[in-house]
Amino acid sequence: MSDPLAFCADELRRLEESSLLRRVRPLSSAQEPEVVVNGRRMLLLASNNYLGLATHPRVVAAATEAARRWGAGSGSARLITGGVTLHDELERRLAAFKGRDDAVLFSSGYLANLGTIAALVSRGDAVFSDELNHASIIDAVRLSRAEVHVYRHCDVDHLRSLLASTPARRRLVVTDSVFSMDGDLAPLPELCDACEAAGAILMVDEAHATGVVGRGGHGAVGDLPVDVVMTTLSKSLGAAGGAVVGSRELVAYLRNRARSFIFDTAMPAPTAAAALAALDVLEAEPGRVERVRALARRLADGLRSCGFDVPEPAAAVVPVVVGGADTALALAAALDEAGILVPAIRPPTVPPGTARLRATVMATHTDEQIDRAVGAFAAARVPA
Ligand SMILES: *Cc1c(COP(=O)(O)O)cnc(C)c1O
Repeated sequence: MSDPLAFCADELRRLEESSLLRRVRPLSSAQEPEVVVNGRRMLLLASNNYLGLATHPRVVAAATEAARRWGAGSGSARLITGGVTLHDELERRLAAFKGRDDAVLFSSGYLANLGTIAALVSRGDAVFSDELNHASIIDAVRLSRAEVHVYRHCDVDHLRSLLASTPARRRLVVTDSVFSMDGDLAPLPELCDACEAAGAILMVDEAHATGVVGRGGHGAVGDLPVDVVMTTLSKSLGAAGGAVVGSRELVAYLRNRARSFIFDTAMPAPTAAAALAALDVLEAEPGRVERVRALARRLADGLRSCGFDVPEPAAAVVPVVVGGADTALALAAALDEAGILVPAIRPPTVPPGTARLRATVMATHTDEQIDRAVGAFAAARVPA
């Protein structure tokens, strides 16, 4: 009998040969600037816990207390009996934080994009998507069955011409505000103008902007006329989950039409409580936002001064593009040797030929730690 799953082993061999095989590497400690991996203490330069809130005592205490009061799991979907007042409180807080009417929670950012996009557009509609948008947006568009038009990265003229030549029942333009693998910022005011002129819906994913970009870390959108604002609670807010904020009608519509809201068990209370406490800390300690931005600039400046081609960071993501997957793996291995944890990011996460080390900083890193990382990059540098 032949093994019907034989293709798995074949595919794994193929991935290994092309330096594209991925493995989970479990930490045995929390998301702090220094972590323990395989019994070794390493400097973590790859976490999206940008403000250090995942381990903040107030955030951890809030999650602990919520587990005592509400339990560990939520028991069912929000629309059945899984919804508790804590969820409503977090939605109100997120709406206020983003300066919008209302918000709806999802169990993850991935599910927020999936449910929202598939609820807003379907067959007969058109989506216009930046070529470097996050995978969850790409998957959401496929799921929606709307016609997809990919525009060149941050190219608003290209978008305008696609909008002008594509009539459809509904048209949705969707973009990351801070791009997850490049760390650059979408041209949001110009995108707003283009959408307004075309009568298109604009949706912005603030996963990497919330907590880092904008006044007080409120995000890149601010009071721009963006119809649908999505954020994760899993990055700067140190918890997990996603949310969509917008008008009362949009949010009520999503509660009725977003399948990843309707058919998914509600976010556990400890997670919601953690996100609420993170918003408290963010507001009480705005210095964290300044700090993470300053550290990103320090890292980028340091890497540039030792010959790496690094763009000016818009947020906490500092991409070091090296080209081939094998080169990225070699650099990551050399850094690993030096005690710096910054995994290589390879296709299909990034386009072929743009494999990179995606370094990220946390507000809780010290200047010395960032300088140590720069020194390790300089020593590991493979001459071009
Ligand atoms: C991380 C991320 C998501 C997914 O959020 P999760 O909470 O991790 O599921 C969505 N969009 C972007 C741009 C992201 O970086």
